[in-house]
Amino acid sequence: MARPEKSRNIHEPPLYTEFRPVGMGGMMDAVIMTIDEYEAIRLSDLEGMTHEQAAEEMGISRPTFTRLLDSARTKIADMLVNGKRLLIEGGNVNFRFMIIRCADCGHMFRIRSDHIPEACPVCGSKNLILMAPPFGGRRHRGGHGRGRHGRGGPWGKGPHR
Ligand SMILES: [Zn+2]
Repeated sequence: MARPEKSRNIHEPPLYTEFRPVGMGGMMDAVIMTIDEYEAIRLSDLEGMTHEQAAEEMGISRPTFTRLLDSARTKIADMLVNGKRLLIEGGNVNFRFMIIRCADCGHMFRIRSDHIPEACPVCGSKNLILMAPPFGGRRHRGGHGRGRHGRGGPWGKGPHR
């Protein structure tokens, strides 16, 4: 195994993790973008950060950030030009915030990763789903890190490969 790399800080998990060209069957090749590559695109090309600022935000070196960004852009170009599916998943990442959806009332909210609530603030349900694609839509049942693995919701279906 390669030497362990430091985990990258990611603001929050991506809400949209699969894209595909319209009008083709389901058989096109897929490009897999890791969540740290996704974050590099977001910080640089959407938020307009410099490589230095974005590297600091993710807790990595500037050359590492530049490599991530280059890799992410190449994947986007491959998807656009060659009509491939794009899946966003995996990577050695650490989310600052989580997005949680209540399975009962559908309420979605963002919360610091170390302050996961016991219950939905709207309806009080404890049937909360953590939106974390790399873990396949883990269902959270209160407590910390003891949620059982579920398959509910649009983010819970796992990769289609
Ligand atoms: Zn609710």
